Amino acid sequence: MVQINEYYSQLKENYLFSSIARRVENFCALHPQADVIRLGIGDVTQPLTPSVIRALHDAVDEMAVKESFRGYGPEQGYAFLREKIAEIDYRQRGINISAGEIFISDGSKSDTGNIGDILGEDNIVAITNPVYPVYLDSNIMRVGKYTKIVLVSCREENGFLPERPSLHPDVIYLCYPNNPTGTVMSKTQLEWWVRYALDNGSLILFDAAYEAFIRDRKIPRSIFEIDRAEHCAIEFRSFSKNAGFTGLRCSYTVVPKALKARSSVGEISINSLWNRRQSTKFNGTPYIVQKAAEAVYSPEGQAEVRETVTYYMHNADMIRAGLTGKGWKFFGGENSPYIWLKCPGGMDSWTFFDRLLEECHIVGTPGVGFGIRGEGYFRLTAFNSHEKTAEAIERIRGWDESKFFREQ
Ligand SMILES: *Cc1c(COP(=O)(O)O)cnc(C)c1O
Repeated sequence: MVQINEYYSQLKENYLFSSIARRVENFCALHPQADVIRLGIGDVTQPLTPSVIRALHDAVDEMAVKESFRGYGPEQGYAFLREKIAEIDYRQRGINISAGEIFISDGSKSDTGNIGDILGEDNIVAITNPVYPVYLDSNIMRVGKYTKIVLVSCREENGFLPERPSLHPDVIYLCYPNNPTGTVMSKTQLEWWVRYALDNGSLILFDAAYEAFIRDRKIPRSIFEIDRAEHCAIEFRSFSKNAGFTGLRCSYTVVPKALKARSSVGEISINSLWNRRQSTKFNGTPYIVQKAAEAVYSPEGQAEVRETVTYYMHNADMIRAGLTGKGWKFFGGENSPYIWLKCPGGMDSWTFFDRLLEECHIVGTPGVGFGIRGEGYFRLTAFNSHEKTAEAIERIRGWDESKFFREQ
């Protein structure tokens, strides 16, 4: 009989959001009248914007005509989109990134999960705790749980920023603005990590999926704002959260040509290696989707993205105000759509999840689902509508949670 990749047996049995979905389903079956408000999963709710929809329709029409029909496209993505990204997301911000360093993909989940394909099995990989589960699980699938992965704690005392690692990791995953904690890294802090990576020959995998939510102009939106980061970092960005592409699927990964790695035959360009990997295992993001992503870079598209982000950040402001009124401690929500709250009264994450669902009919995400350092914390998202978010905050305001406080 065929044997499985045994590392899969080391994964936790359920993907976090399936466990949540199951509990919510059970609750709804028992309480069909309950109007459950979802502030849990990090999915957007606002529809695609007019310029994106127009571009989609036009691209579909092109596909219906022999002269403009497109079959397989370039595995790296069409030049029209790669050029726009290089120009608008980087060069106009004073960052020197070229189209040849940009790889269009169908999602940052795929790319952050697949990047390990090109990295050796002996690398020590540093992953924060708590963390977006994809980094951890994809590495367990690749090298197993027990030897090569070091967890870097992010604790409340440090504002949920990662501790400086004791072992010297070869690969470091950083995600800022952070999912799940909603925290951001200042320029000085990010400079420290870039310096550390350059000094130790490490590679930083920087997930910037939430850069559009940064309101504070001093906070870096790209790791390539840091001097010499092109020698030590790969950046992942997605159209999912800023432009509502969670269902449409488009993202991109920046692999600088200056980036080198060690191999048995000498130094190798990581850009060429990723190109080789993508050309072999990936046949490109659909043409119509890349046309839709291109529309995000039109002046109207850019204005629409700003409007959508402002919409969600208004929810974040409502949640922060509501929690402040409750006297609950929380982090994030200022430059990110996530609010990371400390469960009141010493409740653990899952107890708080159950009580909030039963008493307020609100779904959030238990912090412990993102790692043991998330125990005792809870994530709320700003991705619902104004109306639902306001209603959720109203329910929380009227809730006497103190009856559930753990006796100290
Ligand atoms: C939502 C999210 C992404 C984007 O994933 P896609 O596959 O592009 O939809 C990437 N990283 C983090 C941390 C996220 O929360």
